[in-house]
Amino acid sequence: EAVVHWFKRDLRIYDNRALSMASEKAKSKGVPLVCMFIISPQDYQAHLTSPARVDFELRTLEVLKQDLAEKDIPLYVTTIPNRKDVPIHVLEKCRDWGAAHIYCNIEYEVDELRRETKLVKKCSENRISFTALHDDVLVPPETLKTGQGKQFSVYSPWYRAWIKHLHSHPHLLSASEPPTQNPPITRQRFSNIFSTSVPPAPANKQPSPEQKERFTHLWPAGEHEAQARLTRFLREKITTYKQTRNFPASNSTALLSVHFSAGTLAARTAIRAARDANTAHALDAGNAGISGWIAELGWRDFYKHVLAHWPYVCMHKPFKYEYTNIEWEYDTQAFAAWCEGRTGFPIVDAAMRQLNYMGYMHNRCRMIVASFLAKDLLIDWRMGERYFMEHLIDGDFASNNGGWGFSASTGVDPQPYFRIFNPLLQSEKFDGEEEFIRKWVPELRGVVGKAVHDPYGRGEGKEAERMGYPRAVVEHRVGRERALARYREGLGRG
Ligand code: FAD
Repeated sequence: EAVVHWFKRDLRIYDNRALSMASEKAKSKGVPLVCMFIISPQDYQAHLTSPARVDFELRTLEVLKQDLAEKDIPLYVTTIPNRKDVPIHVLEKCRDWGAAHIYCNIEYEVDELRRETKLVKKCSENRISFTALHDDVLVPPETLKTGQGKQFSVYSPWYRAWIKHLHSHPHLLSASEPPTQNPPITRQRFSNIFSTSVPPAPANKQPSPEQKERFTHLWPAGEHEAQARLTRFLREKITTYKQTRNFPASNSTALLSVHFSAGTLAARTAIRAARDANTAHALDAGNAGISGWIAELGWRDFYKHVLAHWPYVCMHKPFKYEYTNIEWEYDTQAFAAWCEGRTGFPIVDAAMRQLNYMGYMHNRCRMIVASFLAKDLLIDWRMGERYFMEHLIDGDFASNNGGWGFSASTGVDPQPYFRIFNPLLQSEKFDGEEEFIRKWVPELRGVVGKAVHDPYGRGEGKEAERMGYPRAVVEHRVGRERALARYREGLGRG
């Protein structure tokens, strides 16, 4: 006999709701806990998971496998080519191991919920209990309602309700018990799992050796790294977060998104630690940096609640129905220039090159490049959303979709459509010392002073031209007028 915990995007031992409950069940029955993780190439493909992200997951699994082995807990990792076979395989393994109980944490995306529905049915046919828990978010979706009993579609009142709920339900912030040591006999019984290593990434998701080395260096994997990063951030940066968070060159944010999205760190753990470091242990008061950081993590929960309540956002539809009729441009050359960081707008290009190199982009820059694509270039925001998922190491459907909807004005609680970022003003305001641009756009390093923000407009452009830096793909004023007209037309037709 055995009890199974199925790992998905919760790749940690510490403070893991389902793992903890599975371990308790195993202990109470006096049977071993067996863990599993399924590599599903078709899911990676369907969800546009980036090679950087797949690589991060696999590196994390190695750490996890070792840590679990110290507790004599086997971690079975396998690749299932057809995703429709995943539920059957889970069931077969339960049969092999004589397991009558499966535990996992819920993923809120449509494909995952459908898969779980199938599995639940199969489990009940086979007299296996299936328990799925809320762990990824602090407050379970569908808990918070407006005065009219509806789902919130505006962040600020949602945030107030979220904080109130956390205050009145302190257990939502408490840590789960760690899993206990398995009986020693487990080693022998599951020796084949203990001795097998983590399989490689599917061929089309393998980073090149150079990329792998780079990602390994930039983003060390596993929960110990996440904890260490959190501790450093709380010690060194969080109290000034509010003043510094918008400046991409300042290196002042937590750089923890990859860990939240792979589940090497629970948002709950991070918020609890931030709260404990705050004056009077407050969530929404005390030090402005701390409460501000907790509020940013609030956006993460908010977008997951939106996804759980309005699953059609998973289906390439704008959250706001009336924005369905906007006529987008599908200019492949302009899109390629955006992807490759050759738009002639230094702040946009610097940001896109950061993404292409690191698998990460600063939040202010994500907003600038998204607004630029959807408005200045009037390119379908879904192409940008897709490109982000294909390249981000922290790609998370709900946050990415939410961020793109915000910037393109088609999403939940968005920028109004007539609010169009001026890339030059954004650049001057948030990269005033030009450090970020000079770091990522080497062609412009020799351009003197403020001309770096707009080398052909402000400066005479000679140095930029000599270095082969491109001219602007669009004039901001022209792009802006076109976007305003097209959005108005689309809304008129809606
Ligand atoms: P910090 O500033 O230290 O914030 C702490 C944590 O709060 C983040 O790690 C993240 O989990 C959460 N957070 C912060 N801002 C947001 C936000 N606007 N929305 C949701 N959660 C937030 N974040 C992702 O994790 N995955 C994505 O795929 C993603 N795509 C985005 C796309 C666009 C167009 C935009 C505008 C934003 C996107 N974000 C995404 C949100 C945000 O940019 C990143 O979470 C943040 O830059 C990560 O850096 P950090 O960990 O240093 O953040």
